[in-house]
Amino acid sequence: MDLAHNATQGAGPACAHAPETIATPSGNRCEECGSTFNLRLCATCGHVGCCESQAGDARAHALGEQHPVILQMPAGEGFTWCYAENRYV
Ligand SMILES: [Zn+2]
Ligand SMILES: [Zn+2]
Ligand SMILES: [Zn+2]
Repeated sequence: MDLAHNATQGAGPACAHAPETIATPSGNRCEECGSTFNLRLCATCGHVGCCESQAGDARAHALGEQHPVILQMPAGEGFTWCYAENRYV
């Protein structure tokens, strides 16, 4: 993976790995285990998964599907994390 960050940041994606438009959540529970709290949204495809203090399904999805950018749900009210860079973006 050799994506360079370009100069067009600002109002757009959180980082070079994020899609221009954050995907709509597939639902309000983890798609794998059904958890309804501490959920993470995949910015790329809208997958909803649980955090790493639970089954870690959001992380498994991000790494497995190579969709590195996740948002704390509800999206826009919490952090955005990029697994490609291992940092908040
Ligand atoms: Zn990134
Ligand atoms: Zn889960
Ligand atoms: Zn995804």
